[in-house]
Amino acid sequence: MEDDSNISELLAARGIRLTRQREKILAILLQQRDHPTASEVYERAKQKMPSISLATVYNSLEALARNGLLKQVNVDRAPTRFCANLEDHSHFFCERCGAIYDVEAAAAQLGNLPPGFVVFHADVALKGLCSTCSDLNV
Ligand SMILES: [Zn+2]
Ligand SMILES: [Zn+2]
Repeated sequence: MEDDSNISELLAARGIRLTRQREKILAILLQQRDHPTASEVYERAKQKMPSISLATVYNSLEALARNGLLKQVNVDRAPTRFCANLEDHSHFFCERCGAIYDVEAAAAQLGNLPPGFVVFHADVALKGLCSTCSDLNV
């Protein structure tokens, strides 16, 4: 778990200055990496900042995403979810329980590109069942 000082360091390294509110919202996403929606972030933010508004949460998430501190994760038509894991990774969507997991980036496995194509980033969405739902006890 990362505390606020780690976040300040991360931001300083990237030359980004955030308002206290945005920093707190980023902390919420780093603390519980379950890819919450904006309204779930709002529910969590309210516990720390009772006066915060949903609009502020939306604006903060947007600003954080713009600064590259968050990734937006879109699944079909469901509300956008937010991911604070900045490592290159892919998302695995469980179709039964709806959970989203971070899995190793699929880029390395995409070996079948035409000659001359170079991958910088792979945004691959994997869908299936998580280990809890698949009943396969690994
Ligand atoms: Zn993620
Ligand atoms: Zn599941």
